[in-house]
Amino acid sequence: MPKSYSQIPKVDRILTLPAVEQMLAGQPKPVVLAAVRTVLDRLRATAVHGRLAEPIDEAGLCALIESELARANAPSLHPVVNGTGVVIHTNLGRSLLAPAACRHLAEAAERYTNLEIDLATGERGERYCHVEGLLCELTGAEAALVVNNNAAAVLLALSGLAFGREVVVSRGELVEIGGSFRIPDVMLQSGGILREVGTTNRTHLKDYRSAVTPETALFLKIHTSNFAVVGFTAEVSAEELVAIGREQGIPVMADIGSGCLVDLAPFGILGEIPIRDYVRAGVDVITCSGDKMLGGPQAGIILGRRDLLAELRKHPLLRALRIDKLTLAALEATLRLYRDERQALAEIPTLRMLTTPLAELRAKGQRYLRRLRRQAPAAVRLSPEQGSSQVGGGALPLVDLPSFLIAVEADGWQAQEIDTAFRKSRVPVVGRINRGRYLLDVRTLQECDLPALVDALAHLAALPFKNA
Ligand SMILES: *Cc1c(COP(=O)(O)O)cnc(C)c1O
Repeated sequence: MPKSYSQIPKVDRILTLPAVEQMLAGQPKPVVLAAVRTVLDRLRATAVHGRLAEPIDEAGLCALIESELARANAPSLHPVVNGTGVVIHTNLGRSLLAPAACRHLAEAAERYTNLEIDLATGERGERYCHVEGLLCELTGAEAALVVNNNAAAVLLALSGLAFGREVVVSRGELVEIGGSFRIPDVMLQSGGILREVGTTNRTHLKDYRSAVTPETALFLKIHTSNFAVVGFTAEVSAEELVAIGREQGIPVMADIGSGCLVDLAPFGILGEIPIRDYVRAGVDVITCSGDKMLGGPQAGIILGRRDLLAELRKHPLLRALRIDKLTLAALEATLRLYRDERQALAEIPTLRMLTTPLAELRAKGQRYLRRLRRQAPAAVRLSPEQGSSQVGGGALPLVDLPSFLIAVEADGWQAQEIDTAFRKSRVPVVGRINRGRYLLDVRTLQECDLPALVDALAHLAALPFKNA
């Protein structure tokens, strides 16, 4: 059995081994070749002075190639189990789509559609018309436009309405949203000139008023999504800002971040102002995300005055930031569900997860616990635990939603080690650690996650050594 790297057969010879020939029969040669080279590179890199870390025979070599091939052929983007309890988890893809949205998306993917054709006249149409009516109906806005995401919506609105002119923003609202979205940077890119007013904790009406010059194009209000200033604070409300805007003849724009179409206060989720309240307050341009509290696909939604949105429709950036047809299909189907609020709450996963009552979470948790215990290996202990979930997506950082959690323990395993092993499971499981305990929050778990969880638990018990 070869003990040194130089004793391993050369690539040409490896390709003639029966097991590898079988791989070649089923897959293109370059794909198999790449796997062979990867395995050889790895063996060479782990050899010390040419001596292999472990002797390897032909069968062992073929097994390595086979598993490398399987790894290389598996999709890079694949499902994971969200046990974090963060409902709008940006790194895990934010919102799950409602079944109706998935169906509409699949249909738009498989067939030609009337994306940009006016079927009545046969003339070229606008892709935006498929959601504009719904958005106006649901929010009370005069006009609506959709783009790739909210960052694009803000960029387009600033560029279209304030290029080369001043935009007045409170110092308390110059936010950074995760993933390098920073208001001063976006402002710079848009060509707008940032005019900061007030202080970090307090900004008054008079600050906005005294900032006005002939160069002022816009008052901009930004939702401080992912942080809160508490204590000695003062903020100018949208209504008040609209009042000075009218007085000075300056439009008011609000980047409201999450964007919610239903009032979640009855469900104990306080502090998120529904979009239509901003419209009612008279805000001239509103931007928000499609995949945060709205529960749709990644998109940026722009609502507001018809004349201002007409400017944005003509803007050359719109073409670069445009929404694609699959997103549009998913967004339209999601918005349609909101025409019946009860249906939206029942079928849009983000809303459903956010509003599930604790009693229901407990029942679901006990049910999952029973099923997992029945299939978990003996070395693993599962127990119920109280805790709380987060909205996520940068929204409502101070809101804790009481939840039901499942603590996972195994003999000789630290929480951190369980976390690592779960993330390496066939369908990776992402949970959280609190006070040295590894926890899975039932709020963000779904029925279809259970086999993956069983698998992860078995994987834990099967590992001969921790961290193996
Ligand atoms: C999330 C957020 C954004 C960015 O939205 P994306 O849809 O992620 O591009 C911009 N502004 C605010 C206030 C936000 O909360």
